[in-house]
Amino acid sequence: MISEQIKSIKASLPEGVRLIAVSKFHPNEAILEAYEAGQRLFGENHVQELTAKHESLPADIEWHFIGHLQTNKVKYIAPFVSLIHGIDTPKLLKVVDKEGAKVGRVIPCLLQIHIATEETKFGFSREECLEMLSSGILSELQHVQICGLMGMATNTDDEVQIRKEFHTLRALFEELKETYFKDAPAFKELSMGMSDDYPIAIEEGSTLIRVGTKIFGERDYSKK
Ligand SMILES: *Cc1c(COP(=O)(O)O)cnc(C)c1O
Repeated sequence: MISEQIKSIKASLPEGVRLIAVSKFHPNEAILEAYEAGQRLFGENHVQELTAKHESLPADIEWHFIGHLQTNKVKYIAPFVSLIHGIDTPKLLKVVDKEGAKVGRVIPCLLQIHIATEETKFGFSREECLEMLSSGILSELQHVQICGLMGMATNTDDEVQIRKEFHTLRALFEELKETYFKDAPAFKELSMGMSDDYPIAIEEGSTLIRVGTKIFGERDYSKK
């Protein structure tokens, strides 16, 4: 079941779009089944769960941190994380830089942009993002690399609205690519799209989709 889902989703992806299997709340056995099907990119949103899984699962898995990251927990994932999707404050970016320096790494990061109508979702507004970039902060930080943007659409059945939000994120991505990241070829990732909306996200230019439920089934939160 898991392996079939992995294969069918992967087969449907256009070139240039990569699948992150969001394995949060799912056990190692489920991850290994996806791994056996060839999946190597996995996403988690709790630091403790991620570090435990990283220690017990194959070393060639690329672990993506996709949730809200608390500054005091960065140190636990800094040695191995492949991409942090949720940079949502200048403070967090500075802490990631500091922890990257301690372990001798340049840590790949995405800036999370708030595109949904819900107030609960984290992320920079367009203005906050531009303000941070124009502050010159990036030139001071040698141990983070901004690889693109991440966003989550509103949780709604309204496809027109979802498309509009992804479109807005894509437009900001293109704008930044031509301005602040003109000389930064690493700025190329647009992380958008989950189980219910990834086909729309791909049409709007996503390069990284984050899919959990459609691969692993419903999450059992009662086990935590
Ligand atoms: C849980 C989660 C996903 C995956 O959601 P599904 O609907 O299960 O595909 C994607 N992105 C983020 C940030 C998440 O927290």
